[in-house]
Amino acid sequence: TCSTSLCFSNVRMAQNHPLASPSTNSLHHKLLSLPIADKLHFDPESISAASVDYGFFVQEIPAAVLRPSCLEDITTLVAFRYNESSIPFTISARGRGHSVRGQAMARDGVVVDMTSLGNKGHGTTVSYSQSLGHYADVGGHEIWFNVLEHTLKHGLAPVTLTDYQYATVGGTLSNAGIGGESFRNGPQITNVHELDVITGTGDFLTCSPHKNPDLFYSVLGGLGQFGIITRARIALRPAPKRAKWVRLLYSDFSAFTTDQERLISRHQRDQDEALDFVEGCLLMHRNMDTWMSFFPLSDRPRVMSLLTEHKLLYCIKAAKYYDEQTESTVEKDLEIILKDLNHVPEFKFEKDVAFIDFLNRMRVAELQLREQGLWNIPHPWLDLFLPKSRMADINTGIFKDIALKNNITTGCVLIYPMNKNKWDDRMSAVTPDEDIFYAVEFLHTSGFGDWQECELQNKEMLSFLKDNGIKFKRYLPNYRTEREWMEHFGPKWRTFQESKAKFDPKLLLSPGQRIFNHY
Ligand code: FAD
Repeated sequence: TCSTSLCFSNVRMAQNHPLASPSTNSLHHKLLSLPIADKLHFDPESISAASVDYGFFVQEIPAAVLRPSCLEDITTLVAFRYNESSIPFTISARGRGHSVRGQAMARDGVVVDMTSLGNKGHGTTVSYSQSLGHYADVGGHEIWFNVLEHTLKHGLAPVTLTDYQYATVGGTLSNAGIGGESFRNGPQITNVHELDVITGTGDFLTCSPHKNPDLFYSVLGGLGQFGIITRARIALRPAPKRAKWVRLLYSDFSAFTTDQERLISRHQRDQDEALDFVEGCLLMHRNMDTWMSFFPLSDRPRVMSLLTEHKLLYCIKAAKYYDEQTESTVEKDLEIILKDLNHVPEFKFEKDVAFIDFLNRMRVAELQLREQGLWNIPHPWLDLFLPKSRMADINTGIFKDIALKNNITTGCVLIYPMNKNKWDDRMSAVTPDEDIFYAVEFLHTSGFGDWQECELQNKEMLSFLKDNGIKFKRYLPNYRTEREWMEHFGPKWRTFQESKAKFDPKLLLSPGQRIFNHY
């Protein structure tokens, strides 16, 4: 099939896709009779763009792309498909297409390019209420960076942001939206008050913990299965002005995780004593392009010799935010927080940056990679949530015995803990069953010729976890069989299925997740 093994000459093939099968032709015919006909695109460029994603190694060719200019365009399409079943086709909302395994694609179906909603009146508005405090109403198609820029004008920012601000609101809320702030503020899905959703029956519904709660909880982390998010009411907080950005190096894994766990537990006691951001990563020779710039030029030689001595290093990346009121005390607070940590002595680095630059740090890397032609290349990523109790085994079995030995990991490898009590178990997103669990993300970048090698390594890692009885969950999951999805969702599978039957009974939405649509 063409679903998993895209060779890059195939992108060209998508552009020449004849779209001539009888069913596709009759679908075109039907679609062209709709009042949204002028917003449907069948040209090779549109089809080709909707056939690939950031992963760049999966391809599904849709029959058409809808570029809506208002929400009614989407409702018209979904309601038409729901009511007219003579030519079945699927529908997928596509944000920025930053999925890596075809999750936003729709083979022979219609891809809804959410970004075409632009700012035509669906932008961000900031409000205040006594019960919610400050909040913003944002379009599901909005890019988080635009939301952030808008709220900053009011001195406010979304409560939790991810590492990368260029995915859409609907895209991250369909997964979870995690980052270095999640340990204290939860993932993005737990900072939403209300949603507007177009369900798979073509209904436009508002939902919240009090109104249509089953839809609300299903949609958050629901992998696009129950409806298309067109608006989210998200929680805001006062925006700090700047960030003290710290990096600490470790050669000992146990010291690294013990310190990370201490850092993320502090906020439960005292806000002043807490950091705002805690992440970590793996430093190897092979992926040094991803971490070298963390360190001042003059310190790079000694970081390299420490790495040569140990072969593998661990780095805590942390930040404490501050504003005019806390400017005079931030240094002291940070000193207290970092006082008893067990990093390699003398391997502590500090930077002071504007809050927006801290949040937008990945954009700098993106622009560089784009310039070097290294952005639109395969990204066979593996994102895992792993139980704290097994991290020592994971260090040996995965970081040392697989990643270090194979020596093929060129991308960043993130390792950071989160507190489960900041997640809401009524939502569709799933996490390991321990109070603290780690996000471990192998963000491989690879050449067109060797992404399969990374996929083999991913398989090896997953086999290690299974063989050793480690109860993990995949983030941004990707499975092929119903049994695997059942295992993934565990006790939530039943509710997930029931919600599907209720809100998308004809299995129209987000077929690229392959939960209910098995190609
Ligand atoms: P798409 O890839 O377009 O869609 C993803 C899924 O959501 C599809 O199933 C699609 O049908 C569905 N969907 C899209 N829009 C809607 C909508 N409005 N309503 C309902 N369903 C919808 N994730 C994190 O949590 N933290 C990070 O720090 C992080 N960093 C990243 C950095 C990079 C460079 C990249 C490429 C990805 C990163 N991700 C991160 C993953 C990213 O958040 C998810 O892949 C997200 O889904 C991408 O958003 P998108 O708008 O591109 O969604």
